[in-house]
Amino acid sequence: MREWAFSKADGRKLYLYSWDKEPGPLLEDSYRGQPAQAHLRWHPLQQEWVIYAPQRQGRTYHPPRQSCPFCPGGEVPFGDFEIAVVENRYPALSSRPGLAPQPPVPSAPAYGRSEVVIYTANHNGSLARLSQERRRLLVRVWAARYRALYELPEVRYVFPFENRGEEVGVTLFHPHGQIYAYPFVPASIATEAAVFAKQAVLQDLWPRLDPYHVAQRPGFLAFTPPFARFPYEVWIAPEQPHLGPWSFSEAESDAFADLLGEVALRLDGLFSREMPYVMAFHAAPKDAESFHFHVEIYPKLRSRDKQKHLAGTEVGVGIFTAAVLPEEAARLLREAGR
Ligand code: UDP
Ligand code: ZN
Ligand code: FE
Repeated sequence: MREWAFSKADGRKLYLYSWDKEPGPLLEDSYRGQPAQAHLRWHPLQQEWVIYAPQRQGRTYHPPRQSCPFCPGGEVPFGDFEIAVVENRYPALSSRPGLAPQPPVPSAPAYGRSEVVIYTANHNGSLARLSQERRRLLVRVWAARYRALYELPEVRYVFPFENRGEEVGVTLFHPHGQIYAYPFVPASIATEAAVFAKQAVLQDLWPRLDPYHVAQRPGFLAFTPPFARFPYEVWIAPEQPHLGPWSFSEAESDAFADLLGEVALRLDGLFSREMPYVMAFHAAPKDAESFHFHVEIYPKLRSRDKQKHLAGTEVGVGIFTAAVLPEEAARLLREAGR
């Protein structure tokens, strides 16, 4: 994989990645202006940080296709590119967050990074519809971003994710994902890390997952977790307990990429429409010695025309009620057309 690094006119970093091809001709970089400010406030009852990024209110919202910021000549001032990673123009976390105000609870500048990962220069497409070659490149890009972001002294947790579909609040439809690099370890991940330090939960579960299989590739499994919280929730994990994709071999990277594509395709096939979802990568926090990397995908639809809404019990106390049995979800996903 080849990598090029640039600084945009407003100081934000831009990285281009390809297997081999040079990026297209350099265009004018139209973005100017000050970096957005953001800060953290401590929630004294939940014992966790909340991120405040007021300028995100003004972020680009469903722009017309001809002014898509992720098409060539927008955020990426090149006529053509394969995969681009750019610092978010409206970052929740950044290298220059500005000063935090002094509310009556602890506060701090929101140091870290928010990056956008643009999967392709083509406006239309999706994880499922990228070429196999491009998805395989994307896995190398994620691994490279993990390595680079974990090098930063202020970063404690790196989180690649993808919001897909209007139903989950996507503001731009060009195929893309995001990466947040936090200056702390989110509580949900600290819990997972503490569990993995005591018990190899996924490895213990592995031999009993047969009824939950959705698809597989050598060394990788896609399955509905027997304890799924969302309808048609799917996890993808390597059989070996990698801390994160940065330690995948070439063969493992390819197998992971191919399986990710197949799962995305099966989710689209389930109700014969593009499945809106949130895809979350759970890798080890900085310096953790045990973890078992896995991807969690939370679909937004529970049927072709009904959404799963998080409400009283989920939002109010964090307890999920599920109307779809994971073993049934697995069966339907196995049947969903490839
Ligand atoms: N964005 C950007 N540059 C732009 C326009 C938007 O970096 O010129 C960012 C924007 O802040 C947003 C992301 O691109 O975070 C698009 O993300 P998505 O649609 O997945 O969801 P959002 O983060 O808006 O909820
Ligand atoms: Zn576009
Ligand atoms: Fe997890």
